[in-house]
Amino acid sequence: MKNKTRKHLLLLLFCLMSVAFAVTGNTVYASAAKVEAPARKWIFGNYDRVYFQKTDGTLHKGWLRRNGYVYYMHETSGVRVSGWRTIQGKRYFFQRNNGKLVTGWFHADGKKYYASSNGSLRTGWLTDGNSRYYLNASKKGAMQTGWAKIKEKKYYFYPNGKLAVKTWIDEKHYVNKKGVLDLDMVRKRKDTFRWPLDSQWRTITSTFGYRGEMSVGTSDHDGLDIAANMNTPIYAGRSGVIQTRKYSESAGNYIEIDHENGLVSQYMHMTKFAAGIKRGIRVKRGQLIGYVGSTGWSTGPHLHFGVKVNGVCSDPLKFVRKP
Ligand SMILES: [Zn+2]
Repeated sequence: MKNKTRKHLLLLLFCLMSVAFAVTGNTVYASAAKVEAPARKWIFGNYDRVYFQKTDGTLHKGWLRRNGYVYYMHETSGVRVSGWRTIQGKRYFFQRNNGKLVTGWFHADGKKYYASSNGSLRTGWLTDGNSRYYLNASKKGAMQTGWAKIKEKKYYFYPNGKLAVKTWIDEKHYVNKKGVLDLDMVRKRKDTFRWPLDSQWRTITSTFGYRGEMSVGTSDHDGLDIAANMNTPIYAGRSGVIQTRKYSESAGNYIEIDHENGLVSQYMHMTKFAAGIKRGIRVKRGQLIGYVGSTGWSTGPHLHFGVKVNGVCSDPLKFVRKP
């Protein structure tokens, strides 16, 4: 290219730029200002304080939504809130490490809580899945476990917080289908089971807790021994599902029936099982399940009848009336 032509081109370019500047001067400045404007961003201050800067350079205050999470920036200082916070009369919990608002079940300070989908802490009864829970307002919403008196009624909550319903908690406490402690059931409990043999067989040769000559080992006797002839029919004490049907060295041929309300009954030393009695099948109260024998650690034909309450052996005579 010739030197003269290059000069002309440069001159032309200069003129064009001047015109553009004259026409759009304000716009040029505005777009330059936009580039320099503060971005929306977290600001990490001293003492682990976190702030959020808005596009106008000021700090965000109040609720803040960011990438699907919700935060709360202090109303006056703009500091990101963490831990417990009461906002307009409602309690919230923000994760201590990142300030995220929690929803649903969460743990804090060694206790369990539940926050609604908007993050506000729940108190009172809560139904989740098939279970009911109680979030105790007098314990700042902490999930209730163990026994609790609510509006003059007593309830029991398992360690995982679920309300116990229609079950024996132990031999002194039964809760009904609404979970309310039912002392009538304790009074009536002797009819919980029918006698497992025909009523003519009612001689108890070893009671619960009795450490007699017949018991083997050093532990107390954990059921009733009822004397009966060989091959005497044995009946299910109440309806339930066969959970064990097998031979063991100590119990011989034995059956355990799960009655689905904290109760399990046991029948040991059978000579044989009744036809069709298998693990997993449902049996009715009074249904034939086997025959008296002397299998396992036994010195003569008898039925060992046991009752377990939530896994703990209990005195069967508290649950069955001797004929
Ligand atoms: Zn026994």
